[in-house]
Amino acid sequence: MTDSTRTEADAGANARDQRGSRHKDTLIGHAARDPVRFSGMVNPPVFRGSTVLFEDTATYEGRDPDDYKVVRYGVHGTPTTFAFEAAVAELEGGHAAVAVPSGLAAITAALSAYAKQGSHLLVTDTAYGPTRNFCDKRLASWGVDVEYYDPAIGSGIDALIRPQTCAVYCEAPGSMTFEMQDIPAIAAAAHAKGVPVLADNTWGTPYFFRAFDHGVDVSIHAGTKYIAGHSDTLIGAIVTNQANWLPVRRSVADLGMCVSPDDCWLALRGLRTIGVRMRHQMESALTVARFLDAHPRVSRVLFPALENDPGHALWKRDFDGAASLFGVVLKPATDASVVAMIDSLKLFGIGSSWGGYESLAIRAKMITRTATPWRPEGPMVRIHVGLEHPGDLVDDLEQGLSLLSMQ
Ligand SMILES: *Cc1c(COP(=O)(O)O)cnc(C)c1O
Repeated sequence: MTDSTRTEADAGANARDQRGSRHKDTLIGHAARDPVRFSGMVNPPVFRGSTVLFEDTATYEGRDPDDYKVVRYGVHGTPTTFAFEAAVAELEGGHAAVAVPSGLAAITAALSAYAKQGSHLLVTDTAYGPTRNFCDKRLASWGVDVEYYDPAIGSGIDALIRPQTCAVYCEAPGSMTFEMQDIPAIAAAAHAKGVPVLADNTWGTPYFFRAFDHGVDVSIHAGTKYIAGHSDTLIGAIVTNQANWLPVRRSVADLGMCVSPDDCWLALRGLRTIGVRMRHQMESALTVARFLDAHPRVSRVLFPALENDPGHALWKRDFDGAASLFGVVLKPATDASVVAMIDSLKLFGIGSSWGGYESLAIRAKMITRTATPWRPEGPMVRIHVGLEHPGDLVDDLEQGLSLLSMQ
């Protein structure tokens, strides 16, 4: 099939896969499959095991502690784990990936690989709340100087880098406020001073943001979200380039993190359909977001995929698509009426996490900022759009919004 006959289903600027002649949709279906090893079965089985037996003492004692691609002890992975890791790494275009128990575990293990006593860590002011908590509670107590920076800093990050800076941590768009970051500009400035760039790429996913093409050295995923995709699994993944593989992989091993083969299996199954789910959910999210943006009780929608979002140009330049998660700033309304609105929704569940097949709505209340102010003009709601028909979702929101009473 030539490029001209391929249907162009992807939105965004960089729809084509630049890593080879095949489209990423083809890649996800074929990555990390080895039926010859598994009696012809399309998918790898769930390998359960702690002890792995060796042929003799010499082989056992000759194990290479840094070879994380051989089966040597359950903690370091099974063929099921390796299949999931290889598929994620291949989709994102990284050197290798390691599976960890949750998205937060991916963050803490990755940061632990770099943050040492006396070092300085630059973290975006829009980082996921528990990331901030880990930095302020754990890293600070380990003697790490954590400094939060303006997410819009771009190449200006250069002025904040010190000789002790161990890493720059990004998240684009940021949690709750969905502010974009110029990751290539940040990475260029950081790399000029030899500082690695870590990014929480949960929103972008390995499918819609090819972190390594944009200067990221370590890409962090809450696989719990779109990768697993069905609200039934907690898992994380850290993907790295070659230079950063061993520090990150050793950190995961030192912390004793490992994932059940069942969860790896579920996450790999989810990954196979991430393309169709995400493209569909993105289209529905745009429909819902445009409806909200035009609604008289809504002040603005925080969604870089919308043309009027301040981060739209960066998103369009760097991303192949958008997650179906965005924020809504309402016009000033009473707290009680916002609660009544959310509680009245029939199709939007109230709960943490996102990236599943079902829609969710919560208030976005606790937003901690220290580097730059965030003063929304009204109450904020976070919406996740699932696989339901967007027309039904719009109807549900329409009746909910009618309950808002202005202050
Ligand atoms: C949910 C989330 C995480 C954490 O993932 P868990 O698997 O729930 O620990 C990390 N980063 C972002 C941006 C998230 O939204």
